[in-house]
Amino acid sequence: MTPPPASESCDLVIVGAGPAGLAAAQAAAASGASIVVIDDNIAPGGQIWRDGPGVALAPAARRLRDAVAACANVRVCSGTRVVAAPGPRQLLLEDAQRGWLLRWDTLILCTGARELLLPFPGWTLPGVTGAGGLQALIKGGMPVAGERIVIAGSGPLLLAAAATATQAGATVVRIAEQAAWRNVARFAAQLGRWPAKAAQALALGHAAYRAGSHVLSAQGDGGVRTVWLHRGQRRVEDIACDRLACGFGLVPNTELGWLLGCEVAARDGSLALAIDAGQATSVANVYAAGECTGIGGSERALLQGAMAGHAAVGQAAQAAALRRPLARWDRFAALVQRHFALAPGVRQLTAPDTLVCRCEDVPCSALVGRAGWVDAKLHTRCGMGACQGRICGAATQQLFGWTPTTPRPPLSPVRIETLAALAADAAEN
Ligand SMILES: Cc1cc2nc3c(=O)[nH]c(=O)nc-3n(C[C@H](O)[C@H](O)[C@H](O)COP(=O)(O)OP(=O)(O)OC[C@H]3O[C@@H](n4cnc5c(N)ncnc54)[C@H](O)[C@@H]3O)c2cc1C
Repeated sequence: MTPPPASESCDLVIVGAGPAGLAAAQAAAASGASIVVIDDNIAPGGQIWRDGPGVALAPAARRLRDAVAACANVRVCSGTRVVAAPGPRQLLLEDAQRGWLLRWDTLILCTGARELLLPFPGWTLPGVTGAGGLQALIKGGMPVAGERIVIAGSGPLLLAAAATATQAGATVVRIAEQAAWRNVARFAAQLGRWPAKAAQALALGHAAYRAGSHVLSAQGDGGVRTVWLHRGQRRVEDIACDRLACGFGLVPNTELGWLLGCEVAARDGSLALAIDAGQATSVANVYAAGECTGIGGSERALLQGAMAGHAAVGQAAQAAALRRPLARWDRFAALVQRHFALAPGVRQLTAPDTLVCRCEDVPCSALVGRAGWVDAKLHTRCGMGACQGRICGAATQQLFGWTPTTPRPPLSPVRIETLAALAADAAEN
């Protein structure tokens, strides 16, 4: 059998097959360009439309996925990661079998976002996850029927996670929203401008929801057994549970864009890829769409993706036509950010012995007094483990105000054979 080539080429590569990436592929497909979509999940859909044995895929997700699959000039590579950008207009890819080099003319970054995990005493106990992380585990088939679950943190994702857990047979004993009741009420009062969101909020309403409440610590031996929650002015609630899911918001996945030289800008307390009104980044022929450009929800991601897809194949008029509807969802994103912004106390939940870097076992006390991220890395190995600072980098930004530095390749742990693909390609060309 002929071995697969160590490299291939396409007109347009889209990294990420969430709402933004799929919409970009659909919009660009009519141009006839050869398009490759790369995504590291087992099936297209990204975070909100994550597939798995515990999932009934939303009809909108199914329709978009099928529409993209029907395009003969679009190839979707699931289970495939971009691990580096070794040269101009080149990406190094890895799947379960092989590593190879992809050459491109135009690139759209739709790399989405990940959860912001803030350390607190007990956050490394088995049974403690992110709120979206809990959803992902349940969709992946993890049984939770009969379990008592506490969900804490901030934003609409808490309610979505609670709905997923309830559908899977768990009892959600508390949803602790850190934002004050008045913020939640003001947010709800404006939802009428986005009727679909108002209907969604009504459908997701939960009797165990409490505003002005945040996690203090998780206790247990070999697994979480109780959670202490701050509530109101001075009250502490002690709630027995089998799982705790904490979601403090999302952080844009900027690493690949940053590595390619794209400018990043501060947005809502995190860094996001900077784009112009046509979704172009600061690097020629590189566009970005969806939550890597700032947190804003799936509706905004879909519109931005479609704009980027049209712009990338030279359809400027079709892209411009989407600016108006996009502005409406930009306003919704701003509303969420304004009313669910993290209170200062919630950013500082650690005790001196709380691990901040889970990969390298670095406690908070070892980081206090360090000059910044690089100093901390050099002296404590914080951020130098398997996740390469994806979790603790964002946490130290909240805890100490440190700014992360430009990522270095590889973006994630990679097999030696994959790196060897670079040498094979050099020999072939
Ligand atoms: C854990 C989690 C759960 C969420 N659950 C909900 C929910 O229930 N309801 C809701 O309204 N919103 C939810 N959100 C928010 C939701 O993700 C966004 O609104 C929307 O999906 C953003 O779409 P996107 O296309 O920008 O990014 P995403 O949907 O995040 O898609 C980005 C894709 O790019 C892939 N990717 C990133 N980097 C690479 C790389 N180097 N190589 C290969 N692939 C890569 C990712 O794996 C992902 O599949 C969730 C977010 C997270 C983080």
